[in-house]
Amino acid sequence: MQLPLETEALVVHAPGADFAMTPIVIQDLRPDELLVEIKYSGICHTDIWLQSGAAGPLVEFPAIPGHEGAGIIRAIGSEVKDKTLRVGDRVLLSFTACGECTPCREEQFSRCADFARLNLTGLRRPDGTTPAALRDDGRPVRSQFFGQSSFSRFSAVHEHCVVRYPFPKEEEEEEEEEDTLAIYAPMGCGYQTGAGTILNIMRPRPDQTVAVFGAGSVGFAAIMAAAAVSVKQVIAVDLVERKLELAKEMGATDAINTAALQKGTVVDEIRRLTGGRGVDFAIDTTGVPSVVEKMLDCLAYGGTAASIGATPMEARISVDVGAFFANKKTWIGVAEGDSHPPKV
Ligand SMILES: [Zn+2]
Ligand SMILES: [Zn+2]
Repeated sequence: MQLPLETEALVVHAPGADFAMTPIVIQDLRPDELLVEIKYSGICHTDIWLQSGAAGPLVEFPAIPGHEGAGIIRAIGSEVKDKTLRVGDRVLLSFTACGECTPCREEQFSRCADFARLNLTGLRRPDGTTPAALRDDGRPVRSQFFGQSSFSRFSAVHEHCVVRYPFPKEEEEEEEEEDTLAIYAPMGCGYQTGAGTILNIMRPRPDQTVAVFGAGSVGFAAIMAAAAVSVKQVIAVDLVERKLELAKEMGATDAINTAALQKGTVVDEIRRLTGGRGVDFAIDTTGVPSVVEKMLDCLAYGGTAASIGATPMEARISVDVGAFFANKKTWIGVAEGDSHPPKV
């Protein structure tokens, strides 16, 4: 496929602006990149985080979000390391990493020392350029968000994002095949972030308890993973009743609708549900600072809390340091559930 390539993408032109289908030009393909025709993309919290301007100085606009792409390879850069990839192969897209820092050399790619710059700024390449520009005025557009900016009909993606679609083509009819590609697109971030936090990091025992704040796709993945390892109690917390009903279908043993609490706080309710102890593990998928505070407060003695949803840059919270210290609590930040996408 010839470059430059004129196509279109859902561009955010300014912080907080709507997504606008906008003509863009993909100018070139570097040797370590692939041109992918995006067929489907999930929508993840971090896309809205980018669109809202919460990334602050990390991201200049215009920018193309999207980081759960699924599609078909249309061109392959000359130095792409995986020589088994072919034009026409179906692929899922995940995050990128530098491949050279200490965590990357240990295959801990989600802990890449350069994760924020490579994934959140939408810039590619050490020289700070972008693959695409706006067609009408030639301005560069941030077009490698998580190495892929998948809210685009075509995207020049970094090779590290690319995971071959694991299901062979001949198994399915053409139409069904594309449907399954759609179903698996959110593997690129949401599913592995939620499930990986439970399975790779927290590893709860069956006698332990988990609370998940935010019943979206990341929260559902965490709930399903916790249910799959048969923890004693999985408490889903959200503001929307129908999402909590779905959370129960997916394995939550209890649900708390914080919009409907008659008295007390969500922390009181979690303590009531756990016989006064609190939970052994808590996950925040919302990135809302006041929710993060509640997550820390609801931990049991020795409990661990994980922030896995992006917060506005430079957001701060209030912590009861005495209780945190006395109860030997732990608070960790997790990206992508510590997953290595080709192995998920
Ligand atoms: Zn790295
Ligand atoms: Zn995401």
